Amino acid sequence: MVGSIIDGKQHAINLRERIKVATENLISKYSITPGLAVVLVGNDPASEIYVRNKGIQTKEAGMKSLEFRLEEKTSEENLLKKVRELNEDKSVNGILVQFPVPKHMSQQKIIESILPSKDVDGLHPVNSGYLASGLNGMVPCTPQGSAILIKETLGDLSGLHAVVVGRSNLVGKPIAQLLLKENCTVTICHSRTKNLKELCLSADIIVAAVGIPELIKEDWVSKGTTIIDVGINRLDAPEKGPGKTKLVGDVDFNGAIKNASSITPVPGGVGPMTIACLLLNTLIATCAQNNIQFSELEF
Ligand code: NAD
Repeated sequence: MVGSIIDGKQHAINLRERIKVATENLISKYSITPGLAVVLVGNDPASEIYVRNKGIQTKEAGMKSLEFRLEEKTSEENLLKKVRELNEDKSVNGILVQFPVPKHMSQQKIIESILPSKDVDGLHPVNSGYLASGLNGMVPCTPQGSAILIKETLGDLSGLHAVVVGRSNLVGKPIAQLLLKENCTVTICHSRTKNLKELCLSADIIVAAVGIPELIKEDWVSKGTTIIDVGINRLDAPEKGPGKTKLVGDVDFNGAIKNASSITPVPGGVGPMTIACLLLNTLIATCAQNNIQFSELEF
C-alpha cells in the first residue's frame, strides 16, 4: 500500500473560501475591508509571479490589494520610507515586502522596519518572539500552512515525534515552534546534524525544508510516516524537451510514498497554502488592529 497524497491545492481552496466568508462577515458587521500592501523591488520574474498571484487571491477573498513597485536600483532608504508610509496608513492592515530584495539592501533591516502588528509575513523578531513564547502573534505563512496540513491530516498531534529538517527563520524554526505548541516532541535537524537518516527513521512526521533536491530517500522513511515537503527546487528536465525544467521537493516523492502514510507533492502541496495563510494573517491583523475578536467572524 502506498501512502496518500495530501492535496495542498484543495486544502488551500477550502481555507481561502473560509477566509472569504469571514471577510464578508467583517465587512458587513464593521464596514472594515482588510487591506494588504505588497512592495516589490526590481523585476525578478519569480517574484513578479508571486506578487501577481497574491494580488489576485487577495481580491478574490474580498480584501483590498495594494501593489507598490520600486526600481531595482532604488535606495534602501527609499524602500524604508515606503514601509514607514504604509505603517502609518490606517487603510493598510498588512505589509509584505517581497524577498529577496536587491543585494544593496539589508533584508533584516527591512523586516524590522515593518510594524509587528502589520507584519503579515511573521518575520519581525517581535513576532518570532511571540511564537517562541507560545503567544499569539503573526506566524510565517509557509510554516503555518504546513502545520495546518499536518493537523488536518493527523488530527491530535500530542506526543508524536516530528523531525524538522532545516532551521531557517523563514521555515524550519517556526514550524518547529508550531509543532511544539501542538505537543509534538520536536527534533530540529540542519546541515551539521549527524545521523540524519536515523533521525528521520524515528519520526512520525518529517518536515523537509532544506533546498536540496530529493535529499530524503525512501529508506529514510519508516512505515506510516507523514511527510511535509516544503522544498522547491527547479531542475533541468531534458526528457520534457530542450530547455525545459521541472520542480522537485526535498524528498524523493516516488520512493518515500511507498513507506509514508501521507505525503505532500511538489508542486501542489505546501506551496498553495502559503498565500492562503497570508490572507489569514491579514484578516487576523485587521481584527487585532481594530480590537475585534477574531471569533466574531465565525471563521
Ligand atoms: P534556507 O537555505 O534558509 O535553509 C536551509 C536549511 O537547511 C538550513 O537551516 C540548513 O542548515 C539546512 N540544511 C542544508 N543542508 C542540509 C543537509 N545536507 N542536511 C540537513 N539540513 C541541511 O532555506 P529555507 O528558506 O528554509 O527554504 C527551504 C526550502 O523550502 C527551499 O527549497 C525553499 O525554496 C523552500 N520554500 C518553500 C516555500 C513554499 O511556499 N512552499 C516557502 C519558503 C521556502
